[in-house]
Amino acid sequence: GKNNYQFYTAQLTSNAIQKMEIETDLRRAVSESLEEFIVFYQPQIELDSGKIAGAEALVRWQISPERRIPPDHFIPAAENTGLIIPLGKQILRQSCLDFLCWHQKGLGLSRISVNVSMIQLLRSPFLEDVLQVLAETKMPAHCLELEVTESALMKENEQVASVLKQLQDLGIQIAIDDFGTGYSSLGRLQNLPIDRLKIDRSFMPKNAQSISDQALITSVISLANNLNLEVIAEGVETEYQAELLTKNHCQLAQGYLYSPPIPSHEFVKWVEQYNQ
Ligand code: C2E
Ligand code: CA
Ligand code: CA
Ligand code: CA
Repeated sequence: GKNNYQFYTAQLTSNAIQKMEIETDLRRAVSESLEEFIVFYQPQIELDSGKIAGAEALVRWQISPERRIPPDHFIPAAENTGLIIPLGKQILRQSCLDFLCWHQKGLGLSRISVNVSMIQLLRSPFLEDVLQVLAETKMPAHCLELEVTESALMKENEQVASVLKQLQDLGIQIAIDDFGTGYSSLGRLQNLPIDRLKIDRSFMPKNAQSISDQALITSVISLANNLNLEVIAEGVETEYQAELLTKNHCQLAQGYLYSPPIPSHEFVKWVEQYNQ
């Protein structure tokens, strides 16, 4: 009816305005100094040994002391505007610097995982950017893992496949993020340069009663293992889930069961306590 129509236009307009506002603000924050973007870290645990293998870098936008915007709310705008290119490079730089600082403190992690957007892979001279950051920070390539979403990889793009191959040849590890949500064909999986599959959190069975969910996740793990890929499960929140994963030979786990993403200085304390 008439009222509904008015409601929708008002809603649409306010969404469009919101989108414009966020883009304008992003442009400001990126051009100013990028200092409002902070990187949080979440540990990745080796299930058989219990050791901390690494951490995933997850960006937050601290727009003011009281206002922190989660990545889901601004990464899409950063991608639409191309601002993800300078922002992504800064996140990579900060992640390498923090990792090296942890290394100096004797934390002994194997690697840091950084999320990479499809836009970065397609539009920036991504390989050059990565090489430049590694050289500038003196970060060893084998300590860096890049997480690329499955949906990005499924766009059968030769350029992307070739960039990933060159990164891997440098010693950088490649993980497929959100695996299971993008309908990859097995043939394609085998032809891509991949070290690790990261199973999407929607595949994590809630409890022992969800039998069909269990079948799903255990078959994804054995599929990956048969392709000689390591598996990391994300969104691990309970002991039950960790045990199910361990029993089924999943190598790595990440989730609130261990720790939420936290700032670098807290992460150092967390690791030191965990190792005690
Ligand atoms: P993602 O890469 O799939 O990251 C995992 C998300 O799950 C993170 O949300 C993390 O905080 C959350 N999480 C971790 N453990 C648990 C758990 O046990 N339970 C539940 N329910 N959630 C858990 P976050 O940090 O809000 O990031 C959301 C998404 O934003 C990321 O999804 C990623 O796609 C994107 N993102 C974050 N940082 C970056 C970045 O630096 N660059 C790019 N391109 N994208 C990023
Ligand atoms: Ca990720
Ligand atoms: Ca994910
Ligand atoms: Ca996700």
